[in-house]
Amino acid sequence: MNSLPFERRLEILADSAKYDVSCSSSGSNRRGAPGGVGSTTSAGVCHTWTADGRCISLLKILLTNACIFDCAYCVNRRSNDIPRAAFTPDEVVRLTMDFYRRNYIEGLFLSTGVTRSADHTMEQLIAVVRKLREEERFNGYVHLKVVPGADPLLVAEAGRYADRVSINIELPTRRSLALLAPDKPREAVIAPMRQVSDLIASARAERKKSRKAPPFAPAGQSTQLIVGATPESDREIITLSEGLYRRLDMKRVYYSAFVPGSDDRRLPALPTPPLLREHRLYQADWLLRFYGFAAHELLDEDRPNLDMGFDPKSDWAVRHLDLFPVEVNLVDYEVLLRVPGIGVRSAQRIVAARRHARLGEAELKRLGVVLKRARYFLTAGGRYLGGIRLDGAGLVARLLAPEKRPARLDQLELFPAHADASALTGEL
Ligand code: SF4
Repeated sequence: MNSLPFERRLEILADSAKYDVSCSSSGSNRRGAPGGVGSTTSAGVCHTWTADGRCISLLKILLTNACIFDCAYCVNRRSNDIPRAAFTPDEVVRLTMDFYRRNYIEGLFLSTGVTRSADHTMEQLIAVVRKLREEERFNGYVHLKVVPGADPLLVAEAGRYADRVSINIELPTRRSLALLAPDKPREAVIAPMRQVSDLIASARAERKKSRKAPPFAPAGQSTQLIVGATPESDREIITLSEGLYRRLDMKRVYYSAFVPGSDDRRLPALPTPPLLREHRLYQADWLLRFYGFAAHELLDEDRPNLDMGFDPKSDWAVRHLDLFPVEVNLVDYEVLLRVPGIGVRSAQRIVAARRHARLGEAELKRLGVVLKRARYFLTAGGRYLGGIRLDGAGLVARLLAPEKRPARLDQLELFPAHADASALTGEL
């Protein structure tokens, strides 16, 4: 594998890494040390995002795409006949420093296939980041993949050097993992997640006592779930995500539409990746994290899947018309957040502005509140802004009309030629 020319290996290993969407450089604040190189503080850091929110200013690469495991959904699985390549830890360090100095990247996202054993692979990943930090004095952002099943001592070491770590849960249930990734028992994924969560919490507590206490994965941990490779409902997926956010203090759960391309009979025959479903899951996830929704409010036994034609917040509102319209000058911030079309920033602006003046339609527009959908759910100064019957059939048609779907239904490129509608960051 290492006999291939360096550029060819770079091509193979960067291409293989694009299927892992769980990288993001937000939330880290590693200061530059005197004599060191790089910094993740906001000044001087260039963030660029792909259309669907993936951060591309990192060098995103695999140490190797060879793998002793055979996860059915993975392009790098043992049984897949693809060109294999590997870098040495020193080569990854050199590449990172070269790219960083040329201002091509703001940091490194390093993942890998599993070679020899989970521990051996983890040691190789740690060798990269240790050398970057200790020898190159690199203070830029590093997101390191934790290999499921790695020794807890190695997991602890990874978090001491990396800004963020991620352990990909990949599939929502124990049953599906056993079917498609038999080499990765669920416990091998959940145990390091729990360990990382505990170590982050204790490092935070220590740093409250002393700023000299060493940080541990200061940008938190994230994970990735593959959508559509197995039969779980959106309800199962969103309920799992809610548990990960609440119980393991997960920073982000990334949803990755299953990319068909294998004739493995355990996998569904999909014509294209289910990107619209991925998009809806991101919207529902947004509601969990920023809008105060609980998973059971969005989906239940009778409605186990998100509506593909309707964003989940509008869908919830239409099912709760008895709560609307609400008076924009009176209702709590939490209620404003439940109005379709009113995002976090608009709700904050409304709450701040109404302390000084009574808000009508013109004032809302001046505040930059987009009323396209919100108007059907609001009164302002006692006047209903919708103009149609709230419980009439026309409401759904009007709400559906402006819905913007992702234009592309194929796998998104890591470096797209043109920007596309955001699937990750849009407010609802
Ligand atoms: S362990 Fe990771 S790299 Fe290896 S086949 Fe499974 S998902 Fe792919």
